[in-house]
Amino acid sequence: MIKYKLLCKNCELKFDSWFASSNEYEKLKKKKLLSCHSCNSKKVEKTIMAPQLINSKQKMDVKVNLEKYQNIKKTIIGYQKFIKENFKYVGENFAYEARTIHYSKKKKSKGIYGSASKEDLKELKEEGIDAQMIPWIEEKEN
Ligand SMILES: [Zn+2]
Repeated sequence: MIKYKLLCKNCELKFDSWFASSNEYEKLKKKKLLSCHSCNSKKVEKTIMAPQLINSKQKMDVKVNLEKYQNIKKTIIGYQKFIKENFKYVGENFAYEARTIHYSKKKKSKGIYGSASKEDLKELKEEGIDAQMIPWIEEKEN
């Protein structure tokens, strides 16, 4: 359903009218079935005011997106848990630690995680050091 504010060009009366769709409005207008409530003139136009729409699909899309987001969040939190259990946290020293591991030739060392700037990551990549960027969600403190 769509609600238009209609304006009579003859007597300048403004009134609201409901239509099944904007097409229905166009049809009724073409067939001259729209008339002013007051003077019965056929010179009725919809005003440029934004139509009010009842759109349940839009609301559903928001809900679906929220569910998708919740799923992604769960996945990320799952990754984080895995990383925390299996990798060593090095904080801001990520680039330094990554180089240490890379150049020490010891392949047994535990993986590391921490934070690095985009420049650090670019430099590491140029040196042939593999680093992955992953989204990270800060856990809320209770
Ligand atoms: Zn009128």
